[in-house]
Amino acid sequence: MPASAPITQDVATIPRKLPEGPVNLVGLTRENLRSALIEAGTPEKQAKMRAGQIWQWIYHWGVRDFDQMTNLAKDYRAMLARTFVISLPEIVTRQVSSDGTRKYLVRIAGGHEVEVVYIPETDRGTLCISSQVGCTLTCSFCHTGTQKLVRNLTAAEIVGQIMLARDDLGEWPEPGTGTGENGPRLLSNIVLMGMGEPLYNFDNVRDAMKIAMDGEGISLSRRRITLSTSGVVPEIAKTAEEIGCLLAVSFHATTDEVRDKLVPINKKWNIEALLNALREYPRLSNSERITFEYVMLKDVNDSDEDAQRLIKLIEGIPAKINLIPFNEWPGAPYQRSSNNRIHAFADIIYKAGYASPIRTPRGEDIMAACGQLKSATERARKSRAQIAQETGL
Ligand code: SAH
Ligand code: SF4
Repeated sequence: MPASAPITQDVATIPRKLPEGPVNLVGLTRENLRSALIEAGTPEKQAKMRAGQIWQWIYHWGVRDFDQMTNLAKDYRAMLARTFVISLPEIVTRQVSSDGTRKYLVRIAGGHEVEVVYIPETDRGTLCISSQVGCTLTCSFCHTGTQKLVRNLTAAEIVGQIMLARDDLGEWPEPGTGTGENGPRLLSNIVLMGMGEPLYNFDNVRDAMKIAMDGEGISLSRRRITLSTSGVVPEIAKTAEEIGCLLAVSFHATTDEVRDKLVPINKKWNIEALLNALREYPRLSNSERITFEYVMLKDVNDSDEDAQRLIKLIEGIPAKINLIPFNEWPGAPYQRSSNNRIHAFADIIYKAGYASPIRTPRGEDIMAACGQLKSATERARKSRAQIAQETGL
């Protein structure tokens, strides 16, 4: 498709027929699913097996209708349908960028909305999911940060984003096959880089990721899940121990003075405290390296001296530095660094022995790029002046 191709947008509300019953099975851990079945009258001796069967239907086959769970007795299926639902958030709109990126606007309970972005690449397909509606943090370069926190997403709403993207991509395994058996997976990687700070919604994020990683369901390896944090230091070791996924950190500055302004959580846990926590991560999670995200802001954090300081700071930490050209949004108080500057910066880091890829903005024409996400209904935008006043920039 030529770059100038028109953006297609279909306002497709996918109707979901919900079975009767109040408790949603989506988002329950295996253990909680088992308990819910016992509470509904399943004999304790059978509960583990029943939970395993239902789990497979929901997370391996993508089934939403209890009647299709053919290895369960008819009466039992009827009981399930009376007592439970298998319910996902609803896709309100789907926009497709000229580069193939898909952005879903997803409605969750209470009428709130979050955005989910699917990024196809030659060797993988990455889904960028949200963990909160809005964000309590106020990073001054981030569009989401101008939106107040509305609420944490539930585990069902987090894993539900993965499930509805698989619906849209038509990627549930065909009957009789295993996950990914029919060629490379369209949705092969997850990044928790959408709206919100995942480590301020730890339990729900953990439960949802455990479901996504479970080998009898969606079955994504922990090495294909990357959680991005602005630096919630006390939760970093817990992430290694309880989730074990890859970690990315929104670093963005090489002095506390500048980081205080860009990523205000730095006032609570400064660069030194953050680096100390990061140093432990690879060992605790048995993973190889940490991704340092670094947004390139013209004349703010993009000098040669910044690149040199960055190398010094991360010495001894196995790292990759992901340079993100700043994505503009209406009223943003920054500009993107020039291409020459970004390449010069990348070069210094590369010569010091670190991978320093420059992230190509994807889906810019549909405002799907990093930091541009913000739900339409909560677009009570702060003005540039308000942001400047709050951040002191
Ligand atoms: N709250 C988490 C995850 C969501 S943000 C975090 O901050 O890490 C995902 C990434 O996009 C972060 O690295 C963030 O710093 C970056 N980002 C935010 N706004 C951006 C913008 N306008 N341009 C480029 N990157 C941005
Ligand atoms: Fe929140 Fe991350 Fe945006 Fe900061 S960069 S405001 S932590 S979503």
